[in-house]
Amino acid sequence: MKKNINKKQVMSLLLAGFISLSGFGSFATTVSAADKSTVATTATAFPKPGTNLKIHFHYSDKYTINGANGQLLPVFQKLQEVTGYKLQNAANPAAKKSLDEFNLQAAERFPADIYGGNNTGPLMTKYGMQGAFVPLDKYFKYMPDFKKFLDAHPDVKMAITAPDGHIYYAPYVPDGGIARTYFIRTDWLKKLNLAVPKTVDELSQVLQAFKDKDPNGNGKKDEIPYFNDKWEEVVRLANLWGARVYGTDTFAVRVCLDKTSTKMYHAWTADEFRVALKNMARWYKKGLIDPEFITRKANTARQTLLIKDNTGGMTHEWVASTSTYNENADILAAVPDFKFEVILPPANGSEKGFEEHQRMAAKPDGWGISNNCKTPEAAAALMNYIFTKDGRVLANFGIEGLSYDMVDGKPIFKESVIKATGGTNNYLYGNVGAQLPIGYWQDYSYEAQWTNEVGKAGVKLYNDSKVVINNQTPILNFSKAENTTYDKINAPLNLYMDEQIQKMITGQLDVDATWPAYLKKCKDMGVDTLVTTYQSAYDNLKKKK
Ligand code: CA
Repeated sequence: MKKNINKKQVMSLLLAGFISLSGFGSFATTVSAADKSTVATTATAFPKPGTNLKIHFHYSDKYTINGANGQLLPVFQKLQEVTGYKLQNAANPAAKKSLDEFNLQAAERFPADIYGGNNTGPLMTKYGMQGAFVPLDKYFKYMPDFKKFLDAHPDVKMAITAPDGHIYYAPYVPDGGIARTYFIRTDWLKKLNLAVPKTVDELSQVLQAFKDKDPNGNGKKDEIPYFNDKWEEVVRLANLWGARVYGTDTFAVRVCLDKTSTKMYHAWTADEFRVALKNMARWYKKGLIDPEFITRKANTARQTLLIKDNTGGMTHEWVASTSTYNENADILAAVPDFKFEVILPPANGSEKGFEEHQRMAAKPDGWGISNNCKTPEAAAALMNYIFTKDGRVLANFGIEGLSYDMVDGKPIFKESVIKATGGTNNYLYGNVGAQLPIGYWQDYSYEAQWTNEVGKAGVKLYNDSKVVINNQTPILNFSKAENTTYDKINAPLNLYMDEQIQKMITGQLDVDATWPAYLKKCKDMGVDTLVTTYQSAYDNLKKKK
């Protein structure tokens, strides 16, 4: 009889089984006689029951699928229960660099079963075309939900399809467009009787007033008018003077599309970038930009300058997490009228301001199956589960009863998650295993739940004002030859540019005096070839459309 059950029926039976059990604690102790028959049908949705899958997933230079206690994180424990597979972490939890870890595995031809992490997507495509990763499309029989998702999202499908026509990884698909916005201390504006700056000149005057007029009221000139959590984000200030800085939501991508979405160019060699650097150097000299922006430890500026010191005046950061400082108990105890609100990108003279940063259609993150995996159909079925309705809830919200409750049919985070010390995301990454950049479809409602009203108003403001640009560099899957060129040029070129641009902003090098030699060195290092490589991959992508 079982043979006659089609796959859809099996899936719904299986999901029914999962849902009926999910209200209880552990699967193992609550499977009743009736449920056992349901679990037995997983053989079809999840072939090769009992398979052992080694997962090498290392991301953000820090996290694996295991928690700090060395045990599988709850999401992966649940995945074991649902799929009937045994999952095992294969990544070194003490490793400090995720990409180094991935490259070490490449040198050993990927001995584990499943690989992934942030920025590993293009690498899996590259190694996949060399035979080291399994083409997922050959296993679509076991991935009906993933296939259905791709059919409904052709942009994502195009972004992850390799030049040889195969798909070598399931990507992390972000949800919701606007991610970073400008924030300013509106309580300081009020205190100094200043209006919200609408132009770059007005902003310059506002930041100067923050610097000079002691808005934090401690009698010291200790205010840091503009700051960011990462130095690369400080460079994005060049947007204010009309220059593009990053092509995508990745600091390593600096080849951008022109306004007509036709021609690629390197943003960091454009003349408007030179002009922007001169303005940034001027601001730095006047003390308007964080004097420690290069040496400050990454991801500490907001904590230090807003909570600890009450000296930070303005930033351009993640809208959800930044908005939550408005309800930070430590801040409000010290500064009861604290307000850090979203403002639109100021206009540069007659040119309307723009927002460069946004979430991508698909991140270059996710996971894929090594060619050494003895049971690729099992690995494919596991990855497919994440694209089912329940799998999506699991990947976004974690475990019912632990990290969320169902309210009116919707997963709602528990207070302990929303108010977690160190932020909701870090709690989900390290303690739950949700929101990890595995192959999953993000659900924006996960973030909306902990976005403060200030952040929600900001997102609406940016949407209504249509300030977000629409010519981001698409994810390009390079051919083997293009990959070789990219590998040879991009990282060393970025390193050289980083060093020179830092020196120009901080005044160690004069922008105009340095520029010709800087451009020549960039050319010597292959910047034109890099742009040509992007252009030809982009032209190929357009042909596919
Ligand atoms: Ca002060």
